[in-house]
Order: sequence, then C-alpha cells, then structure tokens
Amino acid sequence: MARYTDATCRICRREGEKLFLKGDRCYSDKCALARRAYAPGQHGQGRNRKLSEYGMQLREKQKTRRAYGVLERQFHGYFEKAEMQKGVTGTNLLVILERRLDNVVYRLGFANSRNQARQLVRHGIFTLNGHKVTIPSLQVKVGDSVEVPEKNRKIPVLAEAQEVIARRGCPGWLEADGAAFKGTVKALPQRDDIQFPVNEQLIVELYSK
Ligand code: SF4
Repeated sequence: MARYTDATCRICRREGEKLFLKGDRCYSDKCALARRAYAPGQHGQGRNRKLSEYGMQLREKQKTRRAYGVLERQFHGYFEKAEMQKGVTGTNLLVILERRLDNVVYRLGFANSRNQARQLVRHGIFTLNGHKVTIPSLQVKVGDSVEVPEKNRKIPVLAEAQEVIARRGCPGWLEADGAAFKGTVKALPQRDDIQFPVNEQLIVELYSK
C-alpha cells in the first residue's frame, strides 16, 4: 500500500502548524516547527507570499488529510461519502475521519500518534468487539469496544497507556479504561468534540469546484 515516506516534520513545517505526528517529541523543544518555523526546502525562509483563495482551500485540505495520515484518493472517497450523508458535508467528513480505528486507538491513549496507532493496528495488536482487527481505516460504531488482549499488554507503548490517558484525557464520545486496556465508543463524535483546528468549509469548497 502506498504511504508517505518523507520526513514527517516537513509536513508540519509545510502547513505552518503543529499536527502532532510524532508523539511526545511534538510536546518537547525538539519539535522541528518550534526550531524552524518556516517552510521546508531551499527557499522555505524566503517564501512569505499571500495565499490565493484556492491556495487556502488546498492547504486546509492537505493539512487535514496529512494530520489523519490519509492518502488523496481515500480522502476524496471520504468526501464523496460525506456528501451523500444527511447533514453538513464538512462535519460529516470530519466525523468519518474521527471514526477511523487508528484515530480511535490514538484518541484512547493506546498510541502516541496516529502513525503509531496505524502501525499497531496493522500488527493485529487490538481486538474490536472481541475479534482481532488489522484494518486501520475501519469505521467504528456506537457500542464498539477496542481492547488489548492480555498477551499484548506488555508492549511498552501500551504499558504506558494508563499514564497517557491520564495526561491527555480522551474525548467525550469515547470511554477509556486504562487499567482494563479497553475503550468503548459511547456515541458518534459531534463537531464540538473535534478539537483539531480546521475550517472544513474550505475543503468542501475545494472539492465542489
Ligand atoms: Fe510536527 Fe511533531 Fe514534528 Fe513538531 S515534532 S514538527 S509537531 S511532527
């Protein structure tokens, strides 16, 4: 499967925003954006031009797509799905992204970043409603439970899960039980639950051209 293989921090520097793609490093003074707050590349420091309307829409889409670690084709597929659903397309799109299993694992505190969550899911570390799962893009439903089976609980990043949950908290639509290595989907996420700074309307405008 195709995936992004360039230096991760370049993405944040390109978007000019912290996208928290590298776990604890993002909260430290080692963060590349904190140290070099300009676009990557030879002319990164010189580029300070005002973005066109299209440019702003494109950057908003790229930022969102990259924060969730989704490739263009799949992201566009999510948009088409969001358009077909009832309600506000932009919100529907964000809800679809939030409901991805890798995002849920990250939100529950079982991983330091979505990248790490995706890797753990692919390795079959979690069960969904008691069954082993390996598909990061799987959409969770209300009532689903994500669990780490006993045999996998010694993996260091998972052993730290309780501390991560206590430190980071988890959004209201999820319920995390660090001691039991378990999380439950209490409800579908609402727009207010999604704290990621995005103007989803710009993405809708981009794809509606
Ligand atoms: Fe982005 Fe994290 Fe890298 Fe900072 S350390 S640039 S927030 S991925």
